[in-house]
Amino acid sequence: MLICVTKKIRPGMKTKITDFHQDEYEHWVADLSCGHSRHFRHDPPWQQREWVTSLQGRKTYIGFELDCKICESPDIE
Ligand SMILES: [Zn+2]
Repeated sequence: MLICVTKKIRPGMKTKITDFHQDEYEHWVADLSCGHSRHFRHDPPWQQREWVTSLQGRKTYIGFELDCKICESPDIE
């Protein structure tokens, strides 16, 4: 169970991947430093993210910076 920690983060602020876990459908979910999470599905042929299925691949992406769509949504408070 993932707990969503709401923090006041300005729009456009970058977040980082801190870890990965799998949801109930065995999709990979990145835990972000802002407290949110983001799916990284490997769902060929539409979404090619083979790296997410390997431990080494996931390790490479820990610390990866990205924009958090949830933090950027102005209507979440
Ligand atoms: Zn966020």
